[in-house]
Amino acid sequence: MEHDSLREYSALADSGLLGQLQEFQAKAHNYEELISQSLELFTKTSEMDLVGYLASCLVQRFIPSYLAVFLRDESDADNVSSICFQNLRPARCPIALDTIDPFRDFFDTQSGTTSFTELMQKRPEIAGPLQPLNPDLVIPLNGLNGLYGIVILGRKVLDDDYTSDELTYIEMLFEFASIGLQNVIHYTSSVTDFKTRLYNHSYFVRRLQEEMNRVGRHHHAFALLAIDIDHFKLLNDRYGHLAGDRALFQLSRMIESAVRQEDIVSRYGGEEFLVLLTQCSKQAALDVAERMRRSIADTSFTYQDKELSVTVSIGVTHCSFPPDTSGKQLIAEADQALYRAKHNGRNRCEFFNAGLLVMANRLLSITYR
Ligand code: GH3
Ligand code: MG
Ligand code: MG
Repeated sequence: MEHDSLREYSALADSGLLGQLQEFQAKAHNYEELISQSLELFTKTSEMDLVGYLASCLVQRFIPSYLAVFLRDESDADNVSSICFQNLRPARCPIALDTIDPFRDFFDTQSGTTSFTELMQKRPEIAGPLQPLNPDLVIPLNGLNGLYGIVILGRKVLDDDYTSDELTYIEMLFEFASIGLQNVIHYTSSVTDFKTRLYNHSYFVRRLQEEMNRVGRHHHAFALLAIDIDHFKLLNDRYGHLAGDRALFQLSRMIESAVRQEDIVSRYGGEEFLVLLTQCSKQAALDVAERMRRSIADTSFTYQDKELSVTVSIGVTHCSFPPDTSGKQLIAEADQALYRAKHNGRNRCEFFNAGLLVMANRLLSITYR
């Protein structure tokens, strides 16, 4: 009996069927992996997360000597960011690109992955600068508005060529990555303000409500800052609206750098901003606001060779357990404190002090809850 099975097995092996079966199984496994990686790509909500994950998929599979991703900045055409891995480890990119526009021209006439040798033959002027990355393949990353970035894959560490199966995997992974990227771009534009790249007000209101729920459930506390640029109209009148826009953008970066990653910075409208400081005491909120105010007043930025600076007034309010108020009310409180900061001379912070009536209402709402 055992003898028969062995004979059948070796007959199957001789016919090549077993080899073929193994090949199909390996292919099926690769497709399963591709599907699960693609699903993961679709859940990413930031470009860097998506590209980081894409890089990790490639690095796991091939161990390329180099993997570099160059991304065009959607709202600043003069900026190209890069992510680089050398032998599996994140590394400093040995080259910088000012623009990816010449690659856009190239990939307009040539679709999909291209070997570096071919790029070098056809467009040596754009291929040359990539040479320090020891490139083997140049892969386009397409977004909704055409070429969004390029990925450079160095030769494999073991120095053999990419197989045709591996090339197919790369092509397919990048097809999915393009869809994931379009999702990210849609998502980002639905929650951010284009001019300042901060969160927009509707996203802020959603996060504020979530934070209030957390205060109720976990006894967290948070603070809200309302920030308004002082005499912004004068800056616009004196230097023009484009200078005003630049000031809004620069100020947004200053506000972001004054708070933690987990805090939410948003544009309320015009030249007014709302900031949610998560898990924050009253005193810490006042310290953050004061530090922020001072650093904004001390920082200047250049616009067309002119040194410009702004000051801000900040209203601060705080929410702790029990959250006996609404999000709308909290924003009104921060706004009221901001109004007082303006009234008291600008370039200052004020804390919202609940008047007697508000205190009484709060007490009543706790008593009759
Ligand atoms: P205050 O200290 O009382 O806040 O004075 P202010 O001049 O900042 O306030 P005011 O409300 O009188 O003017 C706000 C100005 O902000 C007027 C408006 O043109 C300008 N502004 C609002 N949104 C934008 C924008 O997106 N870009 C530019 N450049 N200016 C804007
Ligand atoms: Mg103002
Ligand atoms: Mg205002």
